[in-house]
Amino acid sequence: MSKSNINRRKSHTVQVGKVSIGGSSPIVIQSMTDTNTSDIEKTVDQIIQLADAGSEIVRVTVNDSEAIKSIPYIKDKLFHSNVTVPLVGDFHFNGHILLDKYYKEAAYLDKFRINPGNVGKKNKKDKNFTTMIEAACKLDKPVRIGVNWGSLDQELLASKLDLNNKSKSPKSLDEIMCDTVISSALENAKLAESLGMHKSKIIISCKLSKVNMLIDVYRKIAKLCEYPLHLGLTEAGSNERGVVYSSCALGPLLLDGIGDTIRVSLTTDINGERTKEVEISKLILQSFGIRYFLPDVTSCPGCGRTSSDYFQKLAFDIDQYIKKNMPLWKKNYPGVENLKISVMGCIVNGPGESKHADIGISLPGRGENPTAPVYIDGEKKLTLKGDNITGDFKKILLEYIDNKYK
Ligand code: SF4
Repeated sequence: MSKSNINRRKSHTVQVGKVSIGGSSPIVIQSMTDTNTSDIEKTVDQIIQLADAGSEIVRVTVNDSEAIKSIPYIKDKLFHSNVTVPLVGDFHFNGHILLDKYYKEAAYLDKFRINPGNVGKKNKKDKNFTTMIEAACKLDKPVRIGVNWGSLDQELLASKLDLNNKSKSPKSLDEIMCDTVISSALENAKLAESLGMHKSKIIISCKLSKVNMLIDVYRKIAKLCEYPLHLGLTEAGSNERGVVYSSCALGPLLLDGIGDTIRVSLTTDINGERTKEVEISKLILQSFGIRYFLPDVTSCPGCGRTSSDYFQKLAFDIDQYIKKNMPLWKKNYPGVENLKISVMGCIVNGPGESKHADIGISLPGRGENPTAPVYIDGEKKLTLKGDNITGDFKKILLEYIDNKYK
């Protein structure tokens, strides 16, 4: 399978629990719970679900004293479930109070997320920020300086707008907004360093919900610092919108080598799976050959040449078969995630596409001989026919995996 030849932007390495972010470390997938953190059972359950789905870091909101007091219990329950995923505390508005008062509980977190737009106003802003950074330094915790344009530092924005109004060639409001997001992140990172935090403890994010602006901001900030960058389109929305907008936002940046950790922020459907955002993150990285998580199934869309829905059923069935077996295969067949499978609907592109895969099948189209040639490592090895093509193909697939990855 083709590997990515993307040159990653140079950055420091930041250690978050047992996970490294930045430098030459693989791009890390992370997610966030949507439970009330003080509901310990529900929060632990969701953290485990996210970690099982492949989230390598999980963030929880720490919005009040009950939430922060729950953290040691959450960590303890995770420990007893053998879940070691690093836990990040998301602080807004009262983070300085919580980190000061519940210092011991905060020690159970692996990283703090600080939003510089929400730490306070006027003279309290730097004071509160200082309290949080000092707590992180004393506890030897890394921080993410996480700017979000929805909670942007309004004083900084006003001063930039003021300067812009006096300029002979004023910029647009969007440009000023982007400049302010970048300044807020970098100025606060520098402030953290001046307070004694080592640069290898700082990660930056600059989140916006407009795709073009997000790309622009990250391309600019990537040139201005060597802090690892956490990528994500904020408030991406739900369903297709969230998936498509996030993919379009992250794709160009990842291709530019920008981004050390990613989060896809999807609005979860009612009764929907929170883990969907982790699955999408994995697919985005896999689509560029940056990381591989499960065998790739290439299948054509089907068209008037496909004689029945058998082909769609086979493609769907193979997909489900892989997902179901992956937990076991991961243990028994190291490297199986690199496998490339092709399921095609007819002779037009079927044999060609199947030859590009490790193992591929081309089903008979309308009017074609009712047989399904199977290609292995680029060569036609056998032909399937009859009522059990799906079962036969799964058997061949498993044999191939067993031979190649055992
Ligand atoms: S491979 Fe055949 S069935 Fe699939 S889309 Fe192309 S022409 Fe249609």
